[in-house]
Amino acid sequence: MTINPSAKMEETQKGTEVYNFDPLIVKSHYEIDYIHSYAQDSEFFRALGKKKLMGSKCKKCGYTYGTPRGHCMMCGAETEWYQLPNEGRVHTFTTCFFGSEEFLPETPFNLIMVEFEGVNSLFMARLIGAELEDLKIGMKVRAKFRRNLRINPTDVYFVPVKE
Ligand SMILES: [Zn+2]
Repeated sequence: MTINPSAKMEETQKGTEVYNFDPLIVKSHYEIDYIHSYAQDSEFFRALGKKKLMGSKCKKCGYTYGTPRGHCMMCGAETEWYQLPNEGRVHTFTTCFFGSEEFLPETPFNLIMVEFEGVNSLFMARLIGAELEDLKIGMKVRAKFRRNLRINPTDVYFVPVKE
């Protein structure tokens, strides 16, 4: 063992960005690959690649969901897949002027809740191709699918349909 009481760590020119002194707030880089399973929702994401929207239907009470759901929130029973229509109507909408890092470059963008004929719950997606002043509750919209899948919920979006 070598003992060196005058040892020093190497000094570098690398510093830290300080945003505030009291309380002390500094910038740190953080990056991570996140591997996760879509588990029971996998079929929904695979179907987007086939330009299909899949909803779920309760095997026991028949409640229909416009989203993937493994079990019924009304009675707790297992659900089964069924294909949703590619057209629906705007139930409600909002314009996002801020978003997470991935969506920030696209702001402002419109989010809609889509209502499908005969389906008990709604589906949330982005609406492309309509300005805020053109958005109307009840307007007809059609699902479109990315050609280059990201295998995430943004693989589907909606566009207005002229009536
Ligand atoms: Zn049910």
